[in-house]
Amino acid sequence: MRKAILLSLIAIFVSLNIFAQTPQELADAWDATHITDKEPSDVRHADLKVYIEKLREQGVKVGEVGRSNAGREIYQMEFGSGPTKVFLWSQMHGDEPTATSALVDIFSYLATHKDVPWVKEFAAKLTIRAVPMLNPDGAELYQRRNLQGIDINRDALNLATPEARLLKWLQNNWQPDIGFNLHNQQELTAVDHTGNQASISFLVVYGDPAKTETAGMLRNKRIVSAMTKAIETFIPGHIARYGDDWTPTAFGDNFSAWGTPVILIETGALVGQKELYLAKINFIAIMTAFSSLATGSEATGSTLTYDTLPRNASGTLVSFIFRNVQAAPTGNKASMPVDIAAVAARRRASFTTSIRISRVGNVGGLTGLEEFDAAGFYVVQRFGSLAPGKLAELFFYKKDRVVDWKAQDIIEKFEPDAIFSAGSWTKGEGVVPKIQR
Ligand SMILES: [Zn+2]
Repeated sequence: MRKAILLSLIAIFVSLNIFAQTPQELADAWDATHITDKEPSDVRHADLKVYIEKLREQGVKVGEVGRSNAGREIYQMEFGSGPTKVFLWSQMHGDEPTATSALVDIFSYLATHKDVPWVKEFAAKLTIRAVPMLNPDGAELYQRRNLQGIDINRDALNLATPEARLLKWLQNNWQPDIGFNLHNQQELTAVDHTGNQASISFLVVYGDPAKTETAGMLRNKRIVSAMTKAIETFIPGHIARYGDDWTPTAFGDNFSAWGTPVILIETGALVGQKELYLAKINFIAIMTAFSSLATGSEATGSTLTYDTLPRNASGTLVSFIFRNVQAAPTGNKASMPVDIAAVAARRRASFTTSIRISRVGNVGGLTGLEEFDAAGFYVVQRFGSLAPGKLAELFFYKKDRVVDWKAQDIIEKFEPDAIFSAGSWTKGEGVVPKIQR
């Protein structure tokens, strides 16, 4: 009897080892195999087609399931033949691209490792379908809405867009057991009051305004708990919970209402890291979710990690703060030192960043992703206007410089000691010291 228990314990232990990958192993797997090679924000539909062609060569089952308003192909990938039906979709907002690359790499990995025991287990227990880039026209223009100017994620009931009709049909026709709605949030979204960027935020999406706690919601909380634990060694302090207001016209809410309880993943940004790094974090999180479903560990886990996730916060982070700057003197009175806050607009990775001044003066309550101590400097804005809304094109002069501030073309006559342009130091990097957080 004892021997039998021991043997079954060993069997469980072995199966856990075979079927559960550690987060580090998943990270290594992405490093070694990812086929995405562009920053996700630079991936247009033509680039997705190149990825899809590679996936086909690797044996991924992928086909066109619909067309966008402009006639661009929308694809669905599939893996496995198990009883649990898992559905994912990405980039219904055209300028929210990170998970599209993650999905490509996930299906690439699964297809090329189908003989590995834990991948076999996925195939036996799960059928996984995913639509990468639901809004290819929006992706082309790098805009949230589709070509008709409609937010697909507010079109779940009206169904005025072909993309929304497709998404609803894919759900209705297949009735998945779980859905993953994959988005990006603003890079200045913070984790509560920590001053940290929320690089990944999760939400278990309720299916009604009363937030009824169904078995599916509880399962999803356990799965998010597992995903959070898996990624928190990579991005500690950068994981939060997204706001959970009921949105009656949104797809996540309606999928949950239609019987496919949804987990929302919102990818933010992480200063100093490329976008593909967060695609890798998505890869680790989503593979962990599959693992929870395939091994059944989601049935016994805890919701505690999800329940205690800090909330998303907005309005507390800016991209840059320059502290103690002295505006260049005008007339015969010297100016007072001020702080300047500036924020970057969402953009493609390959595009020049436009950074605008958001506040001049008191920046109390704000944290800059990067901060500089400009106490020893005068500053001139490129077009002579140091005010909110203007470009943060800034020229710094050491205070002991002799400069005729009334001169025309100051910048040409008096070479600045440091130039901050389009979000980086194009001259004199390090001259204005960075404040270490
Ligand atoms: Zn979105």
